[in-house]
Amino acid sequence: MGEAMANYKRMLLAVDLRVKHDVTTIAQAAKMAKAFNATLNVIHVMEPIYSYGGSPGSAFVEMEKRIADDARKAFEALATGTELSLDQFILETGSPIATVVDVAEKLKVDLIMVGAHHKHGIQKLLGSTANGIINLALCDVLTIRTKD
Ligand code: AMP
Repeated sequence: MGEAMANYKRMLLAVDLRVKHDVTTIAQAAKMAKAFNATLNVIHVMEPIYSYGGSPGSAFVEMEKRIADDARKAFEALATGTELSLDQFILETGSPIATVVDVAEKLKVDLIMVGAHHKHGIQKLLGSTANGIINLALCDVLTIRTKD
């Protein structure tokens, strides 16, 4: 590798758990980590349910538990067929953009990777999680194109 090439050592891939889309980004992220001999973590951030208008209560807590269980199952599905182990996966609750960037800083990540799928029309104007992470991150961010 030449002098000018970045030397990434700690990588973080953000996944939204639309598994078809994430399978592509995980495969690419795993190749990147291998090529750079870097560590790789995979993060998914659940948005708190009660932020959608209700107050925190047992029904919301139960729902959040179910969503967390589903997320862990999705992690298992995503880890299958890769060299990743489940302890490389991180599940957090909060605002996806701020939480991905926070965790990246805490883990001293030097490359965040996000998926970017093709968007049409007005969605292009609204910005996205990927855009938000790019804007807020202090480190480099790589967008991985997916076809869905
Ligand atoms: P979007 O910008 O929302 O279309 O999502 C594109 C990418 O943003 C995904 O491939 C992930 O890298 C990231 N992302 C979106 N939602 C989440 C989430 N809840 N947790 C972690 N990463 C996410």
